[in-house]
Amino acid sequence: MKRDASRRLLAAWLREVGVDYVPVRIPAAGESPAAETAGEETLEAIRQEIEGCRGCVLCQGRSTIVFGTGNPRARLMFVGEGPGAEEDRQGEPFVGAAGKRLDQWIARIGLSRADVYIANIVKCRPPGNRVPTPDEAKACMGYLLRQIRAIRPEVVCTLGLTALNHLFGVDERITRARGRWRDMDGIAVLPTYHPAFILRDPSREAEVFEDIRSIGRHLSLPVPE
Ligand code: URA
Repeated sequence: MKRDASRRLLAAWLREVGVDYVPVRIPAAGESPAAETAGEETLEAIRQEIEGCRGCVLCQGRSTIVFGTGNPRARLMFVGEGPGAEEDRQGEPFVGAAGKRLDQWIARIGLSRADVYIANIVKCRPPGNRVPTPDEAKACMGYLLRQIRAIRPEVVCTLGLTALNHLFGVDERITRARGRWRDMDGIAVLPTYHPAFILRDPSREAEVFEDIRSIGRHLSLPVPE
């Protein structure tokens, strides 16, 4: 069966069982606006390319690129929004209070930060921690998709509205989208809330715990009650 036909069948089947299916093709290197090389890529090769990136205005204010961190063979990858002030200083994603909360979520399924991979939609800090603009997200998207392709995780968990909407090119509400599995070219994606949002509204954390349990079950990891 042709790939498109099998996707249509899969989409229809998933709709029937109440799962959103949003196909997103991960571009081959050389196809994405940011890609210049073809074939298998290492994270290090992608990182080196980003070091000198002048793809959008965010490069003007950065201290350093925040590329991503963790296990290059991770089964589980998290995608956040973009670096804040502390991340911009240290060159590592999620190092502040939101990062601590994310670490606690990861620990619920018996993993640590070193087991998973964490990256962001944009690699340079938006000034004043504002939300990245669609143009900034677009300029950086090729890099993120290449990171995903290089790691090839079984599950991607998007954190918050920005990650979900830019990764899938949609305009959805996170309250409706969270907890509903979708497919990205054979990778299972589960949107959940951003840890910074949970720090502001802890009453919603039970929903995140539910999502983390769902990820644990998907990866056959120990799942807390
Ligand atoms: N730190 C990050 O690296 N990403 C976010 O989305 C928030 C804080």
